[in-house]
Amino acid sequence: MNVAVIGAGIGGPAAALFLRRQGHSVTLFERVADPGPVGAGILLQPIGQQVLQKLHLLQDIKARAAIVPRLHGSTIHGRPVLDFRYDMLGSDVYGLGVHRGVVFDALWQAMVAADIVIETGVEIVDIQESKLVTVNQETYRDFDLIVIADGARSHLRTTLDLPIYNKPYPFGALWFIAEDAEQRLENGLMQTFDGTQKMFGLMSTGLGPAPGNTPLVSMFWSIDVNAVDALYESGLEAWKDQVRAMRTDLEFILEQVTSLEQLTFANYYDVVMPHWHQNNVVVIGDAGHAMSPQLGMGANIALVDAAILNNCIAQHSDVPTALTAYSKQRKPHLRYYQFASRWLTPIFQSNHTWIGAPRDLVFNIGGKLPFFKQQMMGTLAGRKAGIFRKISL
Ligand SMILES: Cc1cc2nc3c(=O)[nH]c(=O)nc-3n(C[C@H](O)[C@H](O)[C@H](O)COP(=O)(O)OP(=O)(O)OC[C@H]3O[C@@H](n4cnc5c(N)ncnc54)[C@H](O)[C@@H]3O)c2cc1C
Repeated sequence: MNVAVIGAGIGGPAAALFLRRQGHSVTLFERVADPGPVGAGILLQPIGQQVLQKLHLLQDIKARAAIVPRLHGSTIHGRPVLDFRYDMLGSDVYGLGVHRGVVFDALWQAMVAADIVIETGVEIVDIQESKLVTVNQETYRDFDLIVIADGARSHLRTTLDLPIYNKPYPFGALWFIAEDAEQRLENGLMQTFDGTQKMFGLMSTGLGPAPGNTPLVSMFWSIDVNAVDALYESGLEAWKDQVRAMRTDLEFILEQVTSLEQLTFANYYDVVMPHWHQNNVVVIGDAGHAMSPQLGMGANIALVDAAILNNCIAQHSDVPTALTAYSKQRKPHLRYYQFASRWLTPIFQSNHTWIGAPRDLVFNIGGKLPFFKQQMMGTLAGRKAGIFRKISL
């Protein structure tokens, strides 16, 4: 079978690799001319690790990642809000904090080794049955299966004749990757909350893309999309003072930020599609179901998409039937995480300031109840498709 995959983020390369390893001819198209190992730190949840294991990439990624045993959150006054430990799911269960570029490098090198045809600097703007049209009006033809994996701002998903809900979240984040050469910070994901409008996160991020060898930490500063310009206008020291008001032990990180230009702004979308296929075209990853990174699931879910697509294509000889099966299998898992992100995000990032105090109380008390803890950890692990339902790969 001749397969086209559009987008060399996380989901696209994973799908390309799976399908190539089934013996199909795969061409991957990426609009960036020279894609590189860039991006923020991401948290690889147990389900994402399982997919990377299936691709035989987990070991190399883990060698450059940090073990995240625990997610911890407290108020600026030091009162605990969240304290979730992966080992309640099993002694060998943990998250992996990793630079996105490490995952990219591993996927990219594996694609090259697998003889996947990689067309970089090629922006696809239209899909007409088995044909792809580029921004320069060139065409690539005769694909039996087309996988759209062009990210949250996808244009190509609109080529499917389906109603698509796409709403930007009012809050985003400024992020920065800092060095923690002396490993002063505890391994984990640590968040500090001041109501709902201020949230500051730090995540151990491992060593970053080779050949770096200094331990890294990702810093996230939650911000109202409409407040970004004002933050830049008020200047670097004003922002640092806001951070200092939240945590007093981070001077070694703040020293590394010498200009606000070093902070990268990311905003998020809530994208919902009724299903993710039409004829021989399927939409995977953020393109089909972008969500806020509150649960740290986007990259993990894109990996799961690739693994399930692989299964469906292996099980059905006819592509439209395989894609119908794909949408059916993905629905409960995706709906669960979309619902959870939509529900949780405003509780942690919004202008609904009245939510802050009851949230701190509910999470603090709930965190002591085994059922609540189990539900939260099960959700973070990435396997849930309902209160009592789990997916298998
Ligand atoms: C600040 C931040 C923190 C995050 N933290 C986490 C986390 O902890 N855990 C987690 O799992 N997820 C996290 N995410 C989400 C995660 O990064 C995304 O869910 C993931 O990258 C989605 O992968 P994807 O392959 O669907 O799309 P992307 O990674 O966005 O890749 C899409 C690719 O398609 C290419 N492309 C776009 N249009 C075209 C076109 N027309 N033709 C050809 N190529 C095209 C793009 O250049 C890009 O390379 C975070 C996101 C942000 C912003």
